[in-house]
Amino acid sequence: CPKGVAVRRRRIQGAVLLGVAVLALGLVLVAWLGPQSLERQRLLLGTFVQVKAYGADPEALERAVADAIAEVERVGQAFSRVGPGALGALNRAAPGEAMALPQEVWDLLERAQALGAQSGGAFDVKLGALADLWGFAEDWDGTGRVPDQAEIDAFLAAPRGLELLPGGRARRLGAATIDLGAIAKGHAVDRAIAVLRQHAVQAGLVNAGGNVRVFGQVPEPVLFWSVPRPFQVGVQHPRRPGEVLGGLTLEAGQGVATSGDYQRYFEADGLRHHHVLDPRTGRPARGLISSTVVAPTATEADALSTATFVLGPQAGLALVEALPGVEAVLVDADGRIWVSSGLDAARFTF
Ligand code: ADP
Ligand code: MG
Repeated sequence: CPKGVAVRRRRIQGAVLLGVAVLALGLVLVAWLGPQSLERQRLLLGTFVQVKAYGADPEALERAVADAIAEVERVGQAFSRVGPGALGALNRAAPGEAMALPQEVWDLLERAQALGAQSGGAFDVKLGALADLWGFAEDWDGTGRVPDQAEIDAFLAAPRGLELLPGGRARRLGAATIDLGAIAKGHAVDRAIAVLRQHAVQAGLVNAGGNVRVFGQVPEPVLFWSVPRPFQVGVQHPRRPGEVLGGLTLEAGQGVATSGDYQRYFEADGLRHHHVLDPRTGRPARGLISSTVVAPTATEADALSTATFVLGPQAGLALVEALPGVEAVLVDADGRIWVSSGLDAARFTF
């Protein structure tokens, strides 16, 4: 009967209105309570540092990001090879003289020694004097010089050692000056991620000059809720500034780092002389123009990107394949791209 139809229609209208109201309230709640993000950037460690955090509490985000940036700055100062910190002091002490180091510095030196051994010596933190010969000071000014072969030969011929002694002490031997430039930024990123985790935030990303680590997953707002999706980072194209070579999908907690010949270099005699040095030749490593490594921590990613860069495509990939949880995207001097076996199309697209 018509009366029954009218009542039903009114009920349906009522239900639709209620639905719309609930939806609107839900959207307001998502905007109000749902995950927000905060990103800050600073120039630190001679590079561009970016910290991003996601969470529901804007004040917690502010504190988390500020503390993480302060941590990157602290680590940068503590691990300077010429500054007033412990590493600078070790480098100024006479060779053979044992020095007490803060636990954090001793631990990173031990990690660096282990990675040096794993890489067959390609990663070598005892090359500070060689970097100076090429003009790659820590606060590099964009210039450089090609040393005479005799200077390089003299450096290569001199013994170089770093001895880690019990009780947190260490001494350097011979021509070794300690340069943690290829691992300290990764360590700073790992420390900053640890600081972010201590705050009431859901997820975060720290990037120090291409040394990245994430924690958690990006909360992507969907209607009333948020759905976590993995962090994605772009791999810089080594020859086209501002363009990406491809995109990497990171698993929660992973680190990634790129070493390239396109950031710190000078040109002389028609050659590009960059700052990653091959300890076998005493000259900038040839063979690769970019090396990106994904690893469980930013510290390992940083050191291994430098190690693979020195080793070149075949030996570099062999090293990566032998290490669990480590993957790489290498670009050789002819522009060919080498991808390790664990990076399927779902994790690296180009
Ligand atoms: P970036 O500093 O651009 O992230 P890397 O992580 O590759 O690049 O580190 C390069 C720095 O590491 C150099 O500036 C130098 O201080 C140091 N270094 C150069 N060659 C080596 C090497 N073979 N092993 C370890 N450290 C190196
Ligand atoms: Mg590195």
